[in-house]
Amino acid sequence: MTRLEQSSYIFQATVDKRLPMVVDGKGMYITLEDPKTGERRQIIDAMTGAAVGALGHRDPEIIDAMKAAAEKTVYSFPAYFSNYPASDLAEFIIKSSPPNAFAAAVFVGSGSEANENALKIIRQYHVEKGEFKRKKFISRKQAYHGYTLAAMSIADYVHKDSFKDIMLPAENTPKVSQCYPYRLVKENETLEQYKDRLVKEVEDTIIAEGSDTVAAVIFETVGGSTIGTTTPIPGYLEGVKKVCEKYGVLFMLDEVMCGMGRCGTLHAWEQYMPLDNGPDIQTIGKTLGSGYVTIAGVLVSPKVKDVFVKGSGLILGAQTYHSHHFNCSVALAIQQKIAKDGLIANIAKNGNYLADKLKEKCADSPIVGDIRGSGSFWSIEFVKNKETKEPFAPELGVGYMINGICLKNGVHVMGMNGTIDGKAGSHILIAPAYTLTQEDADVIANRIAISVDEAAKTLL
Ligand code: PLP
Repeated sequence: MTRLEQSSYIFQATVDKRLPMVVDGKGMYITLEDPKTGERRQIIDAMTGAAVGALGHRDPEIIDAMKAAAEKTVYSFPAYFSNYPASDLAEFIIKSSPPNAFAAAVFVGSGSEANENALKIIRQYHVEKGEFKRKKFISRKQAYHGYTLAAMSIADYVHKDSFKDIMLPAENTPKVSQCYPYRLVKENETLEQYKDRLVKEVEDTIIAEGSDTVAAVIFETVGGSTIGTTTPIPGYLEGVKKVCEKYGVLFMLDEVMCGMGRCGTLHAWEQYMPLDNGPDIQTIGKTLGSGYVTIAGVLVSPKVKDVFVKGSGLILGAQTYHSHHFNCSVALAIQQKIAKDGLIANIAKNGNYLADKLKEKCADSPIVGDIRGSGSFWSIEFVKNKETKEPFAPELGVGYMINGICLKNGVHVMGMNGTIDGKAGSHILIAPAYTLTQEDADVIANRIAISVDEAAKTLL
């Protein structure tokens, strides 16, 4: 099999069934090359990889910071040494977070690895306390947490029948419902009642599983790739946290995709939980390194850290590339630039402008069911029937198809097909860099609107 044939496996529905090559990028734009003809064209990058970029491509300040970091980089083994870039990065994030939210951080190479490490820290937390039976992780249906084994096992996206045998034992990874108001609120149910129902389901599940066997409840703060930027309803996360506290269960948030500014605040949960009672443990990734370096992390609250300090004093594990000198230096430069240039405030403002434009231009389309999100994290969900919200059949590949049309029309988004028991529609995700201007937003909204119109003509 040639390299090209291999890559066409990933998205069967891209325009010509061959993936274009990304050969250059500058700011909000990337240059693609057709591998067959060598023809090049520039498109606007409204997705920044998989929602990775905060600064756009080839930012000159970050390139300078990378050169400077390369000149200072030394390698060492994290079991024996720390380094200033890693401790400075931890301190920068902790100080930028709400007071006392976090007390320690671990840096690893990817979001999946961060989740893997977080699960291990949670298990060790309970073992340090002598609560050896707490082995179960309750997560949500339709969730995505990455592609390593434990991350896949707490996710639901990949729990298709044919893959079930690959996962960790299902009895250790029970699932509760998503907070997905567009589809899952019952007829005549208020949002308050829906919230109470969801919180009660978590409590009932903890009790049914045996409250002394549950280690943690794990949610994405804003559900990302699988159900399309579904923001939590008021009181929901706070309610779940209280239930967790009642039963000695830790509450973990996965903000690999929605965090580090993506939703318009440093941590997405700051918009949905009391600032003085956030998650016990949280993962971050993606815009931490903004595509320039591969880095993700685990943030640990004082409550969790204290147990380690009073216990063994050791977090199990020292991976070769934990807290890597170069990656931490560059991530720190990126986070400092985001703060210095006020880019989270910028994206909160211009991201909303983009959403207004998307609503203005796309909401009336017969195939658009919902436009939702926050900050620089938006989705358009497509439906066959606007009234009944009937999704398109997954085998039609509507998300991938619209992804392909957008690409043809000069805008990069991320298309996902309807998934999971027919309860999620197809959608596209939009996650531009935090440097987004209103002019960029106009270009993105126009190109998406043209593509949605084109898709509607084909589909209906
Ligand atoms: N968690 C969430 C919520 C994600 O969206 C992702 C990736 O999309 C991951 C974890 C896994 O991150 P990575 O692909 O860096 O391993």
